[in-house]
Amino acid sequence: MTKYIFVTGGVVSSIGKGITSASLGRILRNRGYVVAPMKLDPYINVDAGTMNPYQHGEVFVTDDGTETDLDLGHYERFIDVSCSAGSSVTTGKVYLSVIEAERRGDYLGATVQVIPHVTNEIKRAIVDLGKQQEADIVLAEIGGTVGDIESLPFLEAIRQMRKDFGKESTLFVHVTLVPQVGPWHEIKTKPTQHSVIKLREIGISPDVLVCRSEVAIPQEVKEKISLFCDVPTEAVVESLNAETIYEVPLMYESAGLGDLVVERLGLEKRDSSLSEWKQIAEKIKHPQDRCCIAVVGKYTQNGDAYKSIAEALVHAGGANNAKVDIRWIESQTLESTIDPETVIGDVDGVIVAPGFGDRGIEGKIRAMRFVREKNIPFLGICLGLQMAVIEFARNVCGLEGANTTEVDSEAPYPVIGFMPDQTKVKTKGATMRLGSYPCNITAGTLAHQLYNATRIEERHRHRYEVNNDFRELLIEKGLIVSGVSPDYRLVEMIELPSHPFFIATQAHPEFKSRPNRPHPLFQGLVKAALFRKAAVLV
Ligand code: GLN
Repeated sequence: MTKYIFVTGGVVSSIGKGITSASLGRILRNRGYVVAPMKLDPYINVDAGTMNPYQHGEVFVTDDGTETDLDLGHYERFIDVSCSAGSSVTTGKVYLSVIEAERRGDYLGATVQVIPHVTNEIKRAIVDLGKQQEADIVLAEIGGTVGDIESLPFLEAIRQMRKDFGKESTLFVHVTLVPQVGPWHEIKTKPTQHSVIKLREIGISPDVLVCRSEVAIPQEVKEKISLFCDVPTEAVVESLNAETIYEVPLMYESAGLGDLVVERLGLEKRDSSLSEWKQIAEKIKHPQDRCCIAVVGKYTQNGDAYKSIAEALVHAGGANNAKVDIRWIESQTLESTIDPETVIGDVDGVIVAPGFGDRGIEGKIRAMRFVREKNIPFLGICLGLQMAVIEFARNVCGLEGANTTEVDSEAPYPVIGFMPDQTKVKTKGATMRLGSYPCNITAGTLAHQLYNATRIEERHRHRYEVNNDFRELLIEKGLIVSGVSPDYRLVEMIELPSHPFFIATQAHPEFKSRPNRPHPLFQGLVKAALFRKAAVLV
């Protein structure tokens, strides 16, 4: 029998529900339970694919090509599972299927309403995910904050699920804020009380309160929260800021959350193996070396816009016993007359990030020329590969004005162009080349050395590709195509053998990096960066 855990949030947004859900998933997985995480998002977009990363953070892509909220990245990294279309449910997706069903005539004369039709659709999605993944536990995080109008149908659906499946199979975890206020830094419980009142108005009484706090919550404060919010004191779990997010599962475990949840859901008590996770946190917390990697992108004002890249660098740092300091570089700043030397001259490695549209493109190309000529370790991701090809075409092959047709449809040398199957596509939602695709790696290349494989699979999200009309010339001038699609049609990876570490991929390797399995490309970049740093110091 599948159990259901629902994680809601109160008081403020960005309270850390995603990390809490992911950490809870990890401590249950450590006990050998099959956990299916999912995110219920109240926005009306069908998926996150068309949302601006500035506003919403990174668009995370799953193996099956679903464009989702970045929280799914946390779930995958912490729980080490592969999410799928069913792991992400939005208001848009729910209404789309309800309206399609209505048009088909499935409701046979009924007036289609939020309750029961929309709520039934939400419940169906939750139950189906558990079945599909043969999960012991479905762990569903509800986006937004309690009190938002948009989240009401989701909260109503989970309220009904308690009625449908009983108290022994459902658990409500509410994440709240316990702030300190005033000159004496008094710990205040009122926001938590109000947030619980708001939940109760909807008919949900939380079973566990995860209280985010800057300082340890004294026992008497926990007792007060327990009294006012009607949860046992041991179910008031403090959640303090951690040095690294990968420590949070360990903190929750020692706060007793794992045992509490297992007991409350009537699951079998099992030992929790924490050693691997402890080792990961220790490595990240106690680095022996450090290096600086610049990430050149166009959404660098919002740290969440490149979340998976940042996390992949944390994982790769851990694997190299080093801390990676990320220097975020807004690509547009490199478009001006500023010498790249002053901005990235002192870094140990550079990543040119994925992106869309023309803003900042020339800045990326300038950065690229600099790293190529100065032998700075470089990893290009998706648009980063495309920019590397353009720079090489212009400055090595002499193709002046070479460009991508995404930016300049009249470019004299369109070295990056539409993929053939994209030319007729007019709509924007879920129409890119999305999800996991195989790639053949050429033996003897840097890619081969890093992956230690000749066949890999990576996730994609793009419309443009290297134009095959220029492939021969690029190769002739020294570019190595180290990865191709199995039909040889698409250039998937490139590198420069004359450079100490210059590699780019059309895919998004960052989505597959895990703390326990750092991605080889990021690992390689950090290793090369540390090597360069040591050499420069000599
Ligand atoms: N805009 C480019 C394309 O669509 C690159 C996309 C990306 O970096 N994800 O091909």
